[in-house]
Amino acid sequence: MDLYEHQARELFEEHGILVPRAEVTDSPKEAREIARRLGGRVVVKAQVKTGGRGKAGGVKLAADPAAAELTARQILGMAIKGHTVGKVMLAQPVDIESEFYVSYVLDRAAGGFLAIASAEGGMEIEEVAATRPKAVARVPVDPARGVTSAKAGEIAEAAGLPPQTVDVLVRLWDVLVREDALLVEVNPLVRTRQGRILALDGKVTLDDNARFRQSRWGAEEGEHHDPLEATAAAKGLNYVKLDGEVGIIGNGAGLVMSTLDVVAGCGARPADFLDIGGGASAQIMADGLSVILSDPAVKSVFVNVFGGITACDAVADGIVRALETVRLTKPLVVRLDGNNAARGRAILDARAHPLVEQATTMDGAARRAAELAHSA
Ligand code: ADP
Ligand code: MG
Repeated sequence: MDLYEHQARELFEEHGILVPRAEVTDSPKEAREIARRLGGRVVVKAQVKTGGRGKAGGVKLAADPAAAELTARQILGMAIKGHTVGKVMLAQPVDIESEFYVSYVLDRAAGGFLAIASAEGGMEIEEVAATRPKAVARVPVDPARGVTSAKAGEIAEAAGLPPQTVDVLVRLWDVLVREDALLVEVNPLVRTRQGRILALDGKVTLDDNARFRQSRWGAEEGEHHDPLEATAAAKGLNYVKLDGEVGIIGNGAGLVMSTLDVVAGCGARPADFLDIGGGASAQIMADGLSVILSDPAVKSVFVNVFGGITACDAVADGIVRALETVRLTKPLVVRLDGNNAARGRAILDARAHPLVEQATTMDGAARRAAELAHSA
């Protein structure tokens, strides 16, 4: 899960990294009050989980509280790379002398972390890395040793950062470890004309596997960009929205992924997918089907189940009971194979719903689902 800038800022502050004074709001009127409290001049910043806000007009300087209200009104509701701005952060402006880039990122291939740092921060680091790769230092960090002062000194020197950044680099590592983050990034980390080092922008990605001990961030509003994904998440479903026309339900991540491929191979595009996992209760089926059927982009639905521990007759029962509560409005192609497949097929045959068809192979079912989607 990605955190908003204001949440990252809060974490940095808790770990002793200097940040500008700032407050968050969703109201232009309150923005005026906040600006007054912060001394009048403020930077108004869109709170969206994407970078490049500055270039998109989502970071603006306001000269006084009245201007802050006006600017907040402009930025709130704006769309930045598809993210609607629901809140703005107002921050004290900082007298910048130079801007740096620093981050720690999980390097799965190396089984460790990577410190990435550059004395050319502020703009998009990908651009710097592409045009002047030498300006970006990459220093592997052994997770068992972490970033000591000595290691931080090595990183700062490799990137050409001033020695005062060493302390920040150590603290930033502490943020990563204590908060169970996969990524912490500060861009820009700045040196002010007074010689202080401040974090002006932050991105933190938390490890979802550690959510149970990072409950503080809870189920953050706006985490799901897609309303259907939000509905599915509220029902505890593993659902992902895509942009095609065939809805896909399967059991197990591997089977679901190959189902996507097979559907694509038949010339159709998956509209979404739902992994019902090991359990295929009538409730999960009904919830899953209602989410998928409510998507106007879905033209046909392909249920692909390979019975293992979950037997196919249980899945078929789940589908039949789901049909009692959900009104089927689009054709459903079902392929049941594996444990108790014959019984499962018999249950669906007996139900004989006019919109439910069965296929015996995955390829055959995918072809049929694609055909039905295209003729819809
Ligand atoms: P993004 O990376 O999404 O464009 P930033 O928060 O990095 O957003 O802001 C873009 C630029 O705006 C920064 O590189 C910095 O130059 C300037 N900026 C951001 N916050 C402040 C601040 N509090 N005071 C002065 N300048 C700021
Ligand atoms: Mg930035």
